[in-house]
Amino acid sequence: MESKEIRQRFLEFFKRKQHEIVASAPLVIHNDPTLMFTNAGMNQFKDFFLGNADPSSKRIADTQKCLRVSGKHNDLEEVGLDTYHHTMFEMLGNWSFGDYFKKEAIEWAWELLTEEFQLPKDRLYASVFGGDEGDNMPLDQDALNLWKSIIPEDRIVYGNKKDNFWEMGETGPCGPCSEIHIDLRPETEVEKIPGKDLVNMDHPQVVEIWNLVFMQFNRMANGSLVKLPAQHVDTGMGFERLAMAIQKKTSNYDTDVFSPLINFIANKASVDYGKDEKTDIALRVISDHIRAIAFTIADGQLPSNNKAGYVIRRILRRAVRYGYTFLDFKEPFLYQLLPVLAGQFDGVFPELISQQDFIAKVIREEETSFLRTLDKGLTKLDVITKQAESGSKIIEGKIVFELYDTYGFPFDLTSLIARENGLSVDEEGFKNEMQVQKSRSKKDAATAKGDWIEVKHIDEVTFLGYDAVTSSAQISKYREVEEKGKTLYHIVLDQTPFYAESGGQVGDTGYLADGNQKTTIIDTKKENNLIIHFAKELPKNLEANFEAVVNVSKRQLTENNHSATHLLHAALRQVLGTHVQQKGSLVNDKTLRFDFSHFSKMTDEEILEVEKIVNQKIRENIQLNEQRNVPIEEAKNLGAMALFGEKYGDFVRVITFDKNYSVELCGGTHVPATGNIGQFKIISEGSVAAGVRRIEALTAEAAENYQLKQNEVLQQVNELLNNPKDTVKAIEALVKEKLELTKEIEEVNLEKGKQQKILLQQKVQAVNGFNLLIEQTELPNADALKKLAFEFKNEVENLIMVIAANIAGKPQIAVMISDNLVKEHALHAGNMVRELAKEIKGGGGGQPFFATAGGKEINGLPQAVTKAKELIESMTSHS
Ligand code: ATP
Ligand code: MG
Repeated sequence: MESKEIRQRFLEFFKRKQHEIVASAPLVIHNDPTLMFTNAGMNQFKDFFLGNADPSSKRIADTQKCLRVSGKHNDLEEVGLDTYHHTMFEMLGNWSFGDYFKKEAIEWAWELLTEEFQLPKDRLYASVFGGDEGDNMPLDQDALNLWKSIIPEDRIVYGNKKDNFWEMGETGPCGPCSEIHIDLRPETEVEKIPGKDLVNMDHPQVVEIWNLVFMQFNRMANGSLVKLPAQHVDTGMGFERLAMAIQKKTSNYDTDVFSPLINFIANKASVDYGKDEKTDIALRVISDHIRAIAFTIADGQLPSNNKAGYVIRRILRRAVRYGYTFLDFKEPFLYQLLPVLAGQFDGVFPELISQQDFIAKVIREEETSFLRTLDKGLTKLDVITKQAESGSKIIEGKIVFELYDTYGFPFDLTSLIARENGLSVDEEGFKNEMQVQKSRSKKDAATAKGDWIEVKHIDEVTFLGYDAVTSSAQISKYREVEEKGKTLYHIVLDQTPFYAESGGQVGDTGYLADGNQKTTIIDTKKENNLIIHFAKELPKNLEANFEAVVNVSKRQLTENNHSATHLLHAALRQVLGTHVQQKGSLVNDKTLRFDFSHFSKMTDEEILEVEKIVNQKIRENIQLNEQRNVPIEEAKNLGAMALFGEKYGDFVRVITFDKNYSVELCGGTHVPATGNIGQFKIISEGSVAAGVRRIEALTAEAAENYQLKQNEVLQQVNELLNNPKDTVKAIEALVKEKLELTKEIEEVNLEKGKQQKILLQQKVQAVNGFNLLIEQTELPNADALKKLAFEFKNEVENLIMVIAANIAGKPQIAVMISDNLVKEHALHAGNMVRELAKEIKGGGGGQPFFATAGGKEINGLPQAVTKAKELIESMTSHS
């Protein structure tokens, strides 16, 4: 059975069990401070488990793109070395939100695996949670009883907290789980050791395929467990592992999910898969990593130097190095995998096909830049490993840091290479070095959060900010946080007009009023579906009825910029083409910044054209058409441009300014009609990353002020030029005049030089067979001095020449000695000039036959000449 069919049949099975099938959420998570990437199918439903929001359906199933390379779930070190852990993988899942529980979850899982997919019953094992004393939790008796009615007791294993109690992160929803494992070994092996003994023992052919989690608790910041408002089911099955089992393979990489990639890479490298352990690992790593890289870029995350962007960069560099060292790929190669990969996910994850060129371009650029330093870094590392092999067997933190800082080697890459050589790295030392660098830049201060303290229970926060800028409000909960050494308070209101930072638009500021007492809100941010108001202090009476008031002028200026961003986006697609996609945006009360995919610098004409269209749309005073709660499919039919991929249950809102011009999915706030924007002015256009351009622009008063400033500059220029009729012509004339004058000066200088030379020629003295020229003079520039010295060298034999020159008020000395004298008398112009330079408080040097020195003391020139005479006299008389 092909993998495409497996995925399809999974979804259809649960559809038949009344599950709504939803799309995968993006891999990259934007407004959850506890998680950078989706690491399990349940992430996008977190709020449903916590009771912060209600799902549209109590039963849901999907395939979710997951990435496990950071945080609590990090499989990176296993990937490629083993055959069943990936960085990016698909998790097939079914969910019950307060609906069915353990019985259905277990029975349906069994039915799907053994009837739909016909997996051999006697090769399947189930695990149940055996209890934990620390958390004061008993054995999961219900799950045990359910399994006992399905399989013989000797195929049930008891798991500890690590294996059978699922937690998403340090805090959040969690619960006991029951896993299904499969034994894929040949019969002969099974006869020797029963599969049961190998469950959870990291055996590559006795692997977990499905985890059924029974969500019952919320893990608090202090470590305690609190019962959730309702009981839920959360299951996750590794799609690639399932394919391995159904296709009767013993490695995920042998399934049709990976073999096209492996074959393509092996072919390019002219190697065969399965012949050599080292090249096999490299092939697996690359075929795995390209998926993680491509999908995250498709979801809007570009490789960069921090946070999620750095995770991608690390994975990419790891892949590049595997190719470089083990497959002899010395040129960018990862990007060439894109067509194969995109083709495989055609119809499943269309984001790869639609952005294929862009993703390839970004990857290629990253590869090129890393390949530039990779070779040098590896050579350095080679020397170091050789030293460490015979010595401490540890690579010092300082060196690991240097490799990181200078050669772009992520820590894990260095430690991987160290491991390959039987060495380890000093992680503490590396961290210290990083810390030193960090404290230099004084950033990244940790944020510590306390638990929420509830004041008033609410089911869901009501956001009123699309229709109002003030409202009554009560505090629902609050918590104290430490940020960069300061105490702040996070406040959640039952309802609020404050817009929380998202979609590039900054959060509102304003205040909460309780009578005369005002609490300033300095920012508003989102955490999952919560709208969090930031305050430096708490109101005195937490249970008061507040008036929540948004800073209106700031909000309006921000709206101007946000709506203008939409007009800009549409104009760019008109002028540059529909490959233009939003890659990032920042909208505040001062400016707007818009990043978009485009491959070349915009011409002045294109920029002008875009500006013109936007200003035209502003003058048309197009009314805002705002539609809330639009189902995603319908929004797409309206032609809406999605931003970073929406996820199930998101607030899908469609913002239209003329349905034939700009239709976007957007949660931001906007002007009621485009006329409010006043005017639009682009102030810069440049590159931010491979294939990504950035425009900065101003609107309304800011645009006006910008243009007034420009006018002012022009006026000043005109005044300086005595108000000419044609400013440009006047400046052109000035530039031309300047060129001519420069030329004239050069000619004059040349003439001056010639005359000096004639004067000096007369001063050459013949002494003891030497021709001496030791003089003070004046010259227009250093070049003239050098020129003079070389001319004398060519024209006068047996020359020892010292010229002490005043060059536009600065002293300079040149010493020139004929080559034969240098040899025969061991003379050295460099040594001489250094000695003489002391007189002009300066220094210099050069070759034995020619040297120069500059100095600070112009009045020292005569002494320099005297000293030169003495020196040379002693030299010439000795011989
Ligand atoms: P393992 O112990 O094998 O790492 P896990 O306990 O971390 O698995 P869960 O967090 O329960 O796995 O995830 C649910 C399912 O997702 C697993 O049963 C497995 O099939 C799959 N899975 C987990 N991690 C990976 C991975 N890194 N690559 C591929 N599939 C995975
Ligand atoms: Mg795991």
